[in-house]
Amino acid sequence: MIKIIYIAGDGRSGSTLLDSVLSNIENSISVGECHRFWIRYSEGASHCGCSNIVTECSLWSQIQSRLQTKFPDYEIAQFVQKVREIQFFRNFKQIPKLLQSEEWKTFGKIVVYFYASIAEITGKNVIIDSSKSVPWAYLLLELGVFDIRMIHLERDVLAVANSWKKKVMLPEYTTREVWMPVKGNWVIAKTWLKIKKMANYLVVRVPYMEIKYKSFCKHPENTLEELSVFLDESIPTTNLQLQKNHAIGGNPMRSQLGTIEIKNQKTVLTHLTFFDKFYFRMIKLISKVL
Ligand SMILES: [Zn+2]
Repeated sequence: MIKIIYIAGDGRSGSTLLDSVLSNIENSISVGECHRFWIRYSEGASHCGCSNIVTECSLWSQIQSRLQTKFPDYEIAQFVQKVREIQFFRNFKQIPKLLQSEEWKTFGKIVVYFYASIAEITGKNVIIDSSKSVPWAYLLLELGVFDIRMIHLERDVLAVANSWKKKVMLPEYTTREVWMPVKGNWVIAKTWLKIKKMANYLVVRVPYMEIKYKSFCKHPENTLEELSVFLDESIPTTNLQLQKNHAIGGNPMRSQLGTIEIKNQKTVLTHLTFFDKFYFRMIKLISKVL
């Protein structure tokens, strides 16, 4: 059975670091935010973690032609739309019901074949998927054919907000500038709370482990030991190396391999005003009673 190590959580929560660390698991391949494959492939403008444009990457170009061969009615534009629908599906809890319709059953079959092809082409049985989307994790779980291990990576809402207020350019686009959105307070808070709530719903439905980004950086050895047990995989605790990957939405600079540094740095909230800090402290309090 293919094992999918799934990193769920909000953007700007440190998933790239965790993904890089987990890539040290033997027989694993990191595919980054692979649920974005369809959109990124149809755009044909961003790079894969292997440094090639997604459409020219040895893995993703093969995946696309396999999907076209296996499913004659498969159309990438329609698929982009469906992935978006799952992502923003209003009633997240209804995903199992949704998958019972003929239309969505076919969608499910394509998703299964997509992951099976990643395993087959790369020869790796452990797929590290840092798609982050909780609805996508629920979908994978409901397909019922994978060994899913969900890691909910949570970062302090003040640190997440500080990061969302920064203007950041997406590194995987090199031919044009694509910026991450700078979000307002309510959007940041709403997304963070929603992810927490949805992840809590999956706790009893999927093998689940929560990691607080701060404690991971403070005591990485402890977290890695816990992860090792949870994932039933051996993870080295020292001399962690950046590994070759085919990360969608990842930084192609990662192909410059080297040692991974886990820094225990205090986040300086330079992008938050006094009011913002107060606001997000309130959100944190509210989240404890939800
Ligand atoms: Zn690639």
